[in-house]
Amino acid sequence: MIKALGVILLSLAVASHASARTYSYADAHQHYVDFLQQSQGIEALVQAMDEAGVSSSMLSGLSVVKKWDANEPKRPIYYMGDDAALYWYSLTDVMVARAIQSLPPLQQRRFHPFITGFNATDLNAIDHIRRMLEWYPGFWQGIGEVFTRHDDLTALTYGEPGRANHQAMDAIYALAAEYDLPVLVHANITSTRMPEPLYLAEFEQALAMHPRTKIIWAHAGTSGAINRRQVLPFLENELERLLGRYPNLYVDLSWSVLRPYILDQQGRPSPRWLQLIKSYPDRFMLGSDLVGTFTPLKATLEEFTPLLDALPLQVAQRLAKDNFLALLPKR
Ligand SMILES: [Zn+2]
Repeated sequence: MIKALGVILLSLAVASHASARTYSYADAHQHYVDFLQQSQGIEALVQAMDEAGVSSSMLSGLSVVKKWDANEPKRPIYYMGDDAALYWYSLTDVMVARAIQSLPPLQQRRFHPFITGFNATDLNAIDHIRRMLEWYPGFWQGIGEVFTRHDDLTALTYGEPGRANHQAMDAIYALAAEYDLPVLVHANITSTRMPEPLYLAEFEQALAMHPRTKIIWAHAGTSGAINRRQVLPFLENELERLLGRYPNLYVDLSWSVLRPYILDQQGRPSPRWLQLIKSYPDRFMLGSDLVGTFTPLKATLEEFTPLLDALPLQVAQRLAKDNFLALLPKR
């Protein structure tokens, strides 16, 4: 009896998680390679997209590569895996272009490639972007993910730490506006320890100074490294303020903002976030933020189901797919 009751309760629990809706996705944040510039390959990504109901995907490389330092006893597998530093790696863009162009034309059209292989503190970074636009005419549809304030990753990367309002970025935002390219920027709202929006002014200045540039804020300014150390009580207020003030701001809701902010520990969506998304239904998008390993794509996107199910259907569809596609250059 107790066992039978358990089975009934279990099946009720499963039923309550099952969505009556099926969503089609456009993945707004996806990396073809990991921090060692390795990938399962583009065929594996296409297969994962088919299984996950992802009709199309942003695709960028990773702008940095982890050094296998001679002092380290093992080959690293992640950027935080050991003490070795990372350096800027421009070839990543060519790897993305070669991978997409190896596909049949119909499959190629499912990808929206972004240029990322530059050091965003180099006043010459714009030269790399122009070179990519020239080498692959009509191919690139955005810029990023640009790493600016990124906690441990910033600390481990050789050279000057990036800022969303760095002088080198000004030229890039201007070029992006000229080519109608959205820019995905990773800009932590604060450091891992400070209980205030330490770095927000840098990001806000970029929004204010480049009103014609569509800027996508990766993870709404959060990061996994911050999450491990603190929960930010000011995040929603600041985000709401920025959305009201800067119509060029768009927000990627990938993993570190989904939990613990949008969904609580029981996986229930926060009323505040539901209201925020309903108030700005064309400004939010979903991303998987996978790095080179695409097997978890379906499971990663299904994490958003409780959020999508709690929104009106039309708003949910915009969030899952339409908002990201609407940002891409009109061709
Ligand atoms: Zn990313």
